[in-house]
Amino acid sequence: MTTTTREIHLAARPQGWPTPEDFRTVEVELPDPGPGEVLVRNTVMSVDPYMRGRMNDVKSYVPPYRLDAPLDGGAVGEVVASGDDSLSPGDTVLHQLGWREHALAPARSFRKIDTSAVPASAYLSVLGMPGLTAYVGLTRIAEVREGDTVFVSGAAGAVGSLAGQIARKLGAAKVIGSAGSPEKVAWLTGELGYDVGLDYKAAPIGKQLAEHGPVDVYFDNVGGDHLEAAISAMGDFGRVAVCGMIADYNAETPQPGPRNMMMIVSKRLTIRGFIVTDHADAAGEFYERAGAWVAAGELAYRETYEDGLDRAVDAFLGVLSGANTGKMLVRL
Ligand code: NDP
Repeated sequence: MTTTTREIHLAARPQGWPTPEDFRTVEVELPDPGPGEVLVRNTVMSVDPYMRGRMNDVKSYVPPYRLDAPLDGGAVGEVVASGDDSLSPGDTVLHQLGWREHALAPARSFRKIDTSAVPASAYLSVLGMPGLTAYVGLTRIAEVREGDTVFVSGAAGAVGSLAGQIARKLGAAKVIGSAGSPEKVAWLTGELGYDVGLDYKAAPIGKQLAEHGPVDVYFDNVGGDHLEAAISAMGDFGRVAVCGMIADYNAETPQPGPRNMMMIVSKRLTIRGFIVTDHADAAGEFYERAGAWVAAGELAYRETYEDGLDRAVDAFLGVLSGANTGKMLVRL
C-alpha cells in the first residue's frame, strides 16, 4: 500500500518579499513505514518568520532550504501506521516535518505529546518553540528582575504575546508592548495585562516610547526603528535581548543600523542576541512553569488559523505582514 499525499516545495529563492510563485505544491506517494519508521498524518503545521531566512542561500545557524525539495518546520499530527514499538496508531506527536500532509520518518524524529490538558497545537505555540523563546530571552539573556520596566516589540505575535506576560510573572513592574493595529494594542492592554500598548503604525515608535521610559529591559522582535527607539528610551545599565529583526527580513539591501549607538556606551547597555535552540536545556524548567501557568489560566495565548495546505503559503506571507494575532498556524 502507498499513501498519496501533498507537500510544499521551494520553487525559487524569494527576492525581497516572497510571492506565491516561489512555492510549488507537489503530490507524492509514500510507502508504508518500514521497520523503525512511522507514518504520521499532520493536523497542524507552523509558519514562522525564521523560515524566511532559510529561503535565502546563505550560511546561518540553520541550513538553507533546498530548491525543489519540501520545506520543513514544526508540526503536530497523529500516527497512522508504525513500524516501531515506541509509537502506536492514534498517538499524537510533535516533529519538524511540516509543510506536508503526511510525514514518513524514523520513529526518533517524532516526540509523543500529552494532549489531556492542552490541544496539540499548544506545542507549536504557548508550550512550544515560541514560548521557550520568550522564556529564555527574559530569564537567561535579559535576566529580568523584580521592579524592571520591560518593553516588548512584536508584542501581539507568538513570542511577544507570551514575553510580556512572562516578564510580569518574573517580577516586572511595568510592561510596555508595541504592535501594528488598534485591535492588537487593545488585546495587549486587555487580556494580556500589558500596562502600555503602542500602535507603531499610528505614530513614530521612538516618540511614543519616550513617554514611558526609562526602560530596563528591551525584548527585541523587530529591530530597525524599534531598536533605535529602545536604545533612546533605555536607562543606564539596560539589557536588550535581541530575539529577531523582522523589519529587515525582506529587505533587498542591508538596512542601516540604529543612529544612536553611542548611547550603548554612555548608558553602559548590554545588547545580546540569542537562538532558542542553544537553550534546549531550559525546556524542562520552562514546560513545568509554563504548563502550570496555562493550567491555572494565568498565561493567555491565541492562535490564528488558515485552513488547508493550499493556504500554507498565504499563512506564511501573513505572518510576515501582521495577519496573525498570537501564533500563526495552518490546520491540515
Ligand atoms: P510573530 O507571531 O510575532 O509574527 C510576526 C509579527 O511581526 C507580525 O505579526 C507583525 O505584527 C510583526 N511585524 C512584521 N513586520 C514588522 C515591522 N516592519 N515592524 C514591526 N513589526 C512587524 O512571529 P514570532 O513570534 O514567531 O517571532 C517574533 C520574532 O522572534 C521574529 O523576529 C522571529 O524571527 C524571532 N524568533 C527568534 C527566535 C530565536 O531563537 N532567536 C525563535 C523564534 C522567533 P504587527 O501587526 O504588530 O506588525
